[in-house]
Amino acid sequence: MYCKMCGREMDDDAKFCPSCGEPVEDDMFETEESSETKKSRDYNLETLLGVLAIVFSLMNYLGVFFVHLIGIALGSIVLNLVNRDKKEKKIFSQIGYVTGIIGLLLGIVAIVIGISTQF
Ligand SMILES: [Zn+2]
Repeated sequence: MYCKMCGREMDDDAKFCPSCGEPVEDDMFETEESSETKKSRDYNLETLLGVLAIVFSLMNYLGVFFVHLIGIALGSIVLNLVNRDKKEKKIFSQIGYVTGIIGLLLGIVAIVIGISTQF
């Protein structure tokens, strides 16, 4: 669960927040809800970044130079976020995972086949 005061994650059976010392109230419903909200926000972020990675990489094929570098960067960020979620056994975005890989690969292929002639 998360501290209502500072938002830090803490043990479910903690009596006080290890970060700010705020006592834990027995108001579990609200705490559960806010952690669900946080999860779904992460989920949406990964999907959004993954789609952006594809868009930026594809723009390179349409003649916009250097944008594939943004696509590769975004793809890497998405895969890092997804891997972190998997390790922490949180809900992770499969859409974000797939789109992140596609964006990353499209960007790398753009470099390999030399579409970006100025590069
Ligand atoms: Zn706290």
